[in-house]
Amino acid sequence: MLIATDKVVAIEYTLTDDADEVLDSSVGEEPLVYLHGADNIVPGLEQALEGKAVGDELDVVVEPEDGYGEYLAELISIVDRDMFEGVDELEAGMEFEAESPDGDSQIVLVRAVDGDEVTVDANHPLAGQRLHFKVKVVEVREASEDELAHGHPHGEGDHDH
Ligand code: ZN
Repeated sequence: MLIATDKVVAIEYTLTDDADEVLDSSVGEEPLVYLHGADNIVPGLEQALEGKAVGDELDVVVEPEDGYGEYLAELISIVDRDMFEGVDELEAGMEFEAESPDGDSQIVLVRAVDGDEVTVDANHPLAGQRLHFKVKVVEVREASEDELAHGHPHGEGDHDH
């Protein structure tokens, strides 16, 4: 079976940056399972996996525009300290979950704290980075109706949403 839209695919992967630093890896853990064609993984990697089969190994270089996007200066903003009610010690480097303008939740990183002014950065941590994926396809199967309806794969017996 070849990887195509609506197939559930399991891959082993190692993600490195331009400096060959490992950013993320499934090696030694469970493979990454995703639903092909449902935006579960970055577009550049999904496109490279199209048509592949179990056992195939790929080295994929994904440019930022096909990865986590370009780093956008407009995603950095200054908000009032009051936005962080209940946080006693606010400092640079802390991450918070916030609601984006389109209603999705997103992670924002505190860049700086200056009195009542807090500089936050809503760029994805990997925005602007070229991604190097070393990938091996370990499973390809048909998606169930539930999985297609939900837009993501389900593990065995853990469907509770
Ligand atoms: Zn589901």
